[in-house]
Amino acid sequence: MGLVVQKYGGSSVADAEGIKRVAKRIVDAKKNGNQVVVVVSAMGDTTDELIDLAEQVSPIPAGREFDMLLTAGERISMALLAMAIKNLGHEAQSFTGSQAGVITDSVHNKARIIDVTPGRIRTALDEGNIAIVAGFQGVSQDKKDITTLGRGGSDTTAVALAAALDAEVCEIYTDVDGVFTADPRVVKKARKIDWISFEDMLELAASGSKVLLHRCVEYARRYNIPIHVRSSFSGLRGTWVSNEPQGDQKVEHAIISGVAHDVSEAKITVVGVPDKPGEAAAIFRAIANAEVNIDMVVQNVSAASTGLTDISFTLPKAEGRKAIDALERNRGTIGFESLRYDDQIAKISLVGAGMKTNPGVTAGFFEALSDAGVNIELISTSEIRISVVTRADDVNEAVCAVHTAFGLDSDSDEAVVYGGTGR
Ligand code: ASP
Ligand code: MG
Repeated sequence: MGLVVQKYGGSSVADAEGIKRVAKRIVDAKKNGNQVVVVVSAMGDTTDELIDLAEQVSPIPAGREFDMLLTAGERISMALLAMAIKNLGHEAQSFTGSQAGVITDSVHNKARIIDVTPGRIRTALDEGNIAIVAGFQGVSQDKKDITTLGRGGSDTTAVALAAALDAEVCEIYTDVDGVFTADPRVVKKARKIDWISFEDMLELAASGSKVLLHRCVEYARRYNIPIHVRSSFSGLRGTWVSNEPQGDQKVEHAIISGVAHDVSEAKITVVGVPDKPGEAAAIFRAIANAEVNIDMVVQNVSAASTGLTDISFTLPKAEGRKAIDALERNRGTIGFESLRYDDQIAKISLVGAGMKTNPGVTAGFFEALSDAGVNIELISTSEIRISVVTRADDVNEAVCAVHTAFGLDSDSDEAVVYGGTGR
């Protein structure tokens, strides 16, 4: 008998009908002879609604109470799902993250899992139950406080449980049919990928693809847990994410896996920086001390006449204020002329391990952007990725143009988005 972990996202359990539909799928997996552990997210946009509510009460809610509040969303869906399964004549028990043995550090709102001790889940399974676990939450090892893993953290819960329980597969059910060559909400001709390596998936996730979270893929790679991303609204086979393709998992488009985009970043330009040793160090030390994570960095050559240069970098929009304040505070020691802040940018990335050995990918990428009349502001590359920053307004057109240029357009049906508000 196999053990499967299934995870259902918020849009799959958005209402009572959704919960009943998902309950049927879970029962089917059990009837097929599996032990089934289910990780569930909060219903629909519940988490966002709870955040809005908290902000109405307090502009900066305390981390501990905020986590206590947010974990309520997953408790609602786990209990309802267990009820719906029982109603179909099968045994089910729901567990909070803490009860399921998800142990984290004590960083509220973005805790990291440090151990998983699923003793109660094992017992529940051995007694013939389907175990339902609240996603995105745990309990801190030292203070025994309830923590959350950061937005979208239920995927990580699922993979962590799959690793701890030595599951055969972690199935992530979502509102699209799998991982696509681009966001199907933007590119109608996006193509479903049959199999993708952990490596390429990690790079897509880091570049803004939202279908799987980076941390979840990282965890799956570390413990070598194959992930099957698929829709809870269709019976179709989805996308397998693993080290090596198995059986009939097709490997298409070996050069390029996909195009990702990200509109969640802003760009800061530090203008008029003296071109001498220690300047970049001072800027990024100030940013690091403010606990801001940066992404791309670009420095221009200095103008001969002034000996001054500009340094630009990108960072999450949400951290913009903190970074600007940190730089202003250190203006005296760093010595720059001014700061420019721009949050109307988009990052577009082309990802694929095949580009390591195929010349011309960079040229083709830039040509596609130029043909679409899109101006490039920053460029950064890794071995298997090229990213550019453009105006936010250009993002949809740019992604479609690049997708077509690399022959990724599907010639069959349009990609289906079954649910979710994309919020
Ligand atoms: N409910 C949480 C969120 O919306 C966790 C999750 O969905 O994975 O971020
Ligand atoms: Mg959610």
